[in-house]
This record gives sequence, structure tokens and C-alpha cells, in this order.
Amino acid sequence: MSILKTLLLVSVCTLSVAKPPAPFKTPVAPLLPGEALALAGPDGVVYTFGEASRETSLGCLAELVWIKLEGLDWGSMSVQFNCTGMFKGYPCWRPKGHGRVDLAKALNENCDNAFLAWGQASVQWWMRDYGEGAARARLEETFDPFLGNRMPPGEDLPDIEPPWIGQGDLLRTTPEAMLHWLIDPAQDETVRNVRRLLLTFKQYNYKESVWWIHTGTAPEPGVPAGTSAWAVGGNGQITAVLHLPKGKSKADGLARFRTVMMVAPDK
Ligand SMILES: [Zn+2]
Repeated sequence: MSILKTLLLVSVCTLSVAKPPAPFKTPVAPLLPGEALALAGPDGVVYTFGEASRETSLGCLAELVWIKLEGLDWGSMSVQFNCTGMFKGYPCWRPKGHGRVDLAKALNENCDNAFLAWGQASVQWWMRDYGEGAARARLEETFDPFLGNRMPPGEDLPDIEPPWIGQGDLLRTTPEAMLHWLIDPAQDETVRNVRRLLLTFKQYNYKESVWWIHTGTAPEPGVPAGTSAWAVGGNGQITAVLHLPKGKSKADGLARFRTVMMVAPDK
């Protein structure tokens, strides 16, 4: 066989082997000590950085679970709440209150008391509409990924108090587990709704590539008055969950998410 024929044969053989698609990659900036990141691209492959499997309080991310449960109903009812900083003896994180909030503002500003009031009203409607057992099952099923075995025992519907909006450590997650929850197709509608609520507030147009970012704090178990911070977001291609260590704030979460995920600043 001539050299030319051999080369031709080799090249034909090479061409006939289908190449596997290249794995999705996105650049991320280096993490700071104590930070943890989990991200996934459109292929659903999860990449983790730092201690992404360390469990901590769900904190502000509980708002996303409530949006899954009741977001569409609350949206269609145009729910409102007047946050004075205190509701039934429970303080909101902003002592002077958030004033009048709708669902988009409550989500953007993490108004704990609005979610508490709307959550308490919702479970009353569930009790009336389909009974206590079914209402309890609905609450347990939706929060199950964050409850471990901590669902209060019994047959009753538990009172909706601050632990159900992410205070304390009844509800827990890890960056990796939260990412898996967000990219599960079961959450597609929730993520679309969250994105719309967050971006409406900033009056963006709805280009697919615009990042939605939700940030807030979470209590640090065992550290009185200590908090860490969460920042989660997506741009239609990438979904990412960043956890910042003790002492970091909502503003830190937003700033670090933008830096780590190389999100361009707001125009
Ligand atoms: Zn508030």
C-alpha cells in the first residue's frame, strides 16, 4: 500500500469515529477562604469548588421553596404586606421594616415577615380546602429535600413560624444539593417565576442571557446572631449556587456572585 493510500485510510477512519461532545465549561474566578460553589451548564454536569457538600441553614433560599408552593397563586392575587419590622412578635431582619411590599419586592429584599404572613394564610386555605392531613402532606412533600428527618412528628399541620421561612436550622441544604434542586426539571416553572419576579424589579428586558441572582443571609447554627450568606442565580445556560462564610451579608453575596461567575455589572 502506498503511503498516500495509508494516509487516506487513516483519515477516513478518524473521520468515521463520532467525537463525544465537549463538556460544558465556564470560567470562574478563584474562591475566597470559606466560600463554596456548585454550578452546572446546560448538559446538567455539576462542578463543585470548596466545601460544596457542607450542610448549613437554608436561610433566605426558603423563599424559593415558598415560591414553588404558592408563588403563582400569590402572584395572581397580587398579595401585599405592610412590614413594620415586627409581625406577631417576630422581628423582620430589617428592624424598621420594609414598608409595603408585593411579592417581587419581598423576594428582592428578603422580607421575612411578608413570607411568614403569606405562608400562614396559605396553610389556612389548604386546611379549609382539603383538610389537615392533605395540607401537612403538601408542606412535607415540598420541603422534603430540606427537612431530612426533622418534620415535626404527628398528624397535624405544624404552625408556620420563622423556621419555615429559613430561620433556625429546621431547613438545611448544601450548595451542591441546592443546585441539584434548582436544575431539576420539576423546578422549571419555579425558576421561571423567580427570574421574572427578580428581573421585573430591575426593569430588565427578558433576554435569556440576563442573569437572575437571588441573595440573602442564613443563620449559622450554633452561632447566636451569626449569619452566612447565599447567592444563587442563572442565565439560561448556567445555574450556580454560592455560599459565603460566617459574617458575610446579602450585599457581599451579590458582589461575590458577580465576581466569581464573571457577571457584567448592571447597566
Ligand atoms: Zn420585612
